[in-house]
Amino acid sequence: MELLDKIQTISRWRRGDQRAPHKPLMLLYALSQYKQGHERLFQFENEVDNQVKELLGQYGPSRKSHRAEYPFWRLANEPAPFWEIQNGEQCALSSQGDPRKTDLNKYNVMAGFDASSYQSLISNPKLIEKIVSKLIQDNFPETLQEELFVRFGFEVNTSTKQRDPNFRKNVLRAYNYRCAVCGFDLALDTVPVGIEAAHIKWKQYSGPCEVSNGIALCSIHHKALDKGVITFTSELKVQVSPATRGGRMVEQLIWNYENKKVSLPRDMHSYPSEKAIEWHVREVFKLA
Ligand SMILES: [Zn+2]
Repeated sequence: MELLDKIQTISRWRRGDQRAPHKPLMLLYALSQYKQGHERLFQFENEVDNQVKELLGQYGPSRKSHRAEYPFWRLANEPAPFWEIQNGEQCALSSQGDPRKTDLNKYNVMAGFDASSYQSLISNPKLIEKIVSKLIQDNFPETLQEELFVRFGFEVNTSTKQRDPNFRKNVLRAYNYRCAVCGFDLALDTVPVGIEAAHIKWKQYSGPCEVSNGIALCSIHHKALDKGVITFTSELKVQVSPATRGGRMVEQLIWNYENKKVSLPRDMHSYPSEKAIEWHVREVFKLA
């Protein structure tokens, strides 16, 4: 089995529709390091624990704590193996099969791609790029893909192939070509400018391309939604993350809309569905 296929089987792995970006982010970190000449294995304590935890905080769902030890250890349990752990024999394991962080540090446990996968990766930079593109496109919405490519040091390659043109058209029509949050409705003659159809539940997590899973937003509010800066309450009012920072313009563009009701379509069946909003609050919105 080719490495790319092995990795595709993981990136499809989901626990229900909960976001599980641990393994993709661990792999993206490792691949970006290989590109910069890193050796095959990574130390847990000095490398993964800080770096991957930071990535999980920034690109993962809002959780009380993020555990970098999960992907570091669990990637070695994939049915199609490509990840290897060294010095792990003495770690005591929990009932779920995970080691304690203290043991990972004590025994200087290291992990990375196995020797043959590592060989194929470093002898073929195109393969690294292919896997990176796949991981980013399968796990993150388009508004975040570009910054992830840049962050990991790769050329931007955002997917357009899965785009459903009817989704965009139907959502923009339902909202009368205006941002549902701020009312922005710039057009050049009949062509809307900077107004987008956002998925509330991400397509990457099987969010349907239906109007009830969409909302028309200007580029800024679209990005703010996908980043978890804003979300919506069950009464369809705007909620702003307490982690939001910024000056006068952020006051105007973000805080001013807090607790304001969004502009809704004429037809109630087109309103954002409760299920989609619940998912967004749970999996994307930055609570703290
Ligand atoms: Zn807007």
